[in-house]
Amino acid sequence: MKLAVYGKGGIGKSTTSCNISIALARRGKKVLQIGCDPKHDSTFTLTGFLIPTIIDTLSAKDYHYEDIWPEDVIYGGYGGVDCVEAGGPPAGAGCGGYVVGETVKLLKELNAFFEYDVILFDVLGDVVCGGFAAPLNYADYCIIVTDNGFDALFAANRIAASVREKARTHPLRLAGLIGNRTSKRDLIDKYVEACPMPVLEVLPLIEEIRISRVKGKTLFEMANLATTKVGSLNSALPLVSPQKGDDEEDYICNFYLNIADQLLTEPEGVIPRELADKELFKLLSDF
Ligand code: ADP
Ligand code: MG
Repeated sequence: MKLAVYGKGGIGKSTTSCNISIALARRGKKVLQIGCDPKHDSTFTLTGFLIPTIIDTLSAKDYHYEDIWPEDVIYGGYGGVDCVEAGGPPAGAGCGGYVVGETVKLLKELNAFFEYDVILFDVLGDVVCGGFAAPLNYADYCIIVTDNGFDALFAANRIAASVREKARTHPLRLAGLIGNRTSKRDLIDKYVEACPMPVLEVLPLIEEIRISRVKGKTLFEMANLATTKVGSLNSALPLVSPQKGDDEEDYICNFYLNIADQLLTEPEGVIPRELADKELFKLLSDF
């Protein structure tokens, strides 16, 4: 299964991606996360450092693919999740789509692309030009991270339009929205009423997540450090929203395990019909 996580810059794509990747690994899947953002920090909380990007490695070897070994570009991360950072084109020049294309080409040459149960692309999706839509060529599902505000929902609507467009020629579906860093969901609900799509989860602003980023660790690693109940995260969970339990970090991990479980059922998803900009402005400003 190939997943592409999109959303406005800074909305929490990488945080969400890393925790979903570990949740899928906890469910027994072999997972590769590919950061497709010039910021190249997608996998930082999985590995604890900024790994070399594919583009940097390729240019250091003069684009001689045959001189590159899997261990040059694929790094083992927390929870058994493998990590790749595509990197970005030179600022103001080149194309993000080219970078993603080169990354997939190299992984195929290394016989790594088809080795995984799940590949998750974490994609900068603020402005969806053709280049940034490139990971949708490989994905079975797109997932959009948003908050309850106009800007992120505007970006989500543009991403939905890209999914609709790509789905004409690719077997791509939108799995749904993940609300992040918001205690309110009224605008998210308004949006999905007008543009029907599933809402997989809504996560509030969680101080532990902010701290985990500063420490270069995922929530799962923090939970593991904080508790001796190591096995508790491996237990089979029902498909219900998490209930607040004794352990704050376990409780947050359950949000991500719930998302992973929904994806593992291979949901039907939707081919969205995005709103016209005018409609969206009216919908979200009409209180
Ligand atoms: P993106 O990949 O979309 O640019 P990041 O995942 O890097 O965004 O998140 C941006 C910042 O927001 C990070 O410092 C991260 O720790 C923080 N963050 C993300 N989700 C949450 C949340 N639910 N609660 C609190 N902080 C969050
Ligand atoms: Mg990111």
